[in-house]
Amino acid sequence: MRIDILSLFPDMFQATLGQSIVGRAQEDGFLDIKVTDFRKYTTDKHNHVDDAPFGGGAGMLLQAQPIFDAMAAINEQTKATYPKGRVILLDPAGRRFDQAYARELAQEEHLTFICGHYEGYDERIRELVTDEASLGDYVLTGGELAAMVMIDATARFVPGVLGNMASPMGDSFSNGLLEYPQYTRPADFRGRKVPEVLTSGNHQKIREWRIRESLRRTLERRPDLLETAKLTSEQRIILQD
Ligand code: SAM
Repeated sequence: MRIDILSLFPDMFQATLGQSIVGRAQEDGFLDIKVTDFRKYTTDKHNHVDDAPFGGGAGMLLQAQPIFDAMAAINEQTKATYPKGRVILLDPAGRRFDQAYARELAQEEHLTFICGHYEGYDERIRELVTDEASLGDYVLTGGELAAMVMIDATARFVPGVLGNMASPMGDSFSNGLLEYPQYTRPADFRGRKVPEVLTSGNHQKIREWRIRESLRRTLERRPDLLETAKLTSEQRIILQD
């Protein structure tokens, strides 16, 4: 998957996306992430990319020109290999990001993220995008952190990135529920014992226990998820128990 990011602060990305699983996925060729500093595209002689809003008001807005021209350059570079894709504007007014959205974006071959700053965007920038996405109901100083979170969560669904496609599917939210509790060695840590069933070797019993615990945890912590989760018949039977 190719990922382009338009940002005024390209250095912010190296510290996170260059490390760990996403960093390795880039080295192994599963992800190709390019960050473009769109200030380089401004035609303003003082290198400004922002201006005051028409009609007055506090703060400055990102101007259309640098972003239109940076997008045109990215399209020129990528159109032969990636003729289609999604362009995502980070914006508190956008669609709320969640696991289903991450999974949906992972189906694409090319994603472009536009990171805002200041008080927001000249409205005409929205013409360039297929998606407007929000991380949640709060306001960040810029779109960079939101883009990093979205890229990290999306990358987990890109084949090859985790090396084992079973893991994102078992993650919390992937099946609509929270994940069940897990334990590792030792089986007895200072008197705190692992539930016996997990060391029993009985795979059917372990499976049922995990479904039950996943349902229990979701019911206790996020009952709202159960209203929309598409439960399997096995999960429904265990829930009614
Ligand atoms: N005045 C804007 C408003 O009230 O909607 C907020 C602008 S915010 C200070 C600057 C930029 O940070 C936004 O344009 C957007 O790119 C990014 N941003 C802030 N909060 C965000 C959120 N919850 N999700 C995604 N991006 C966000």
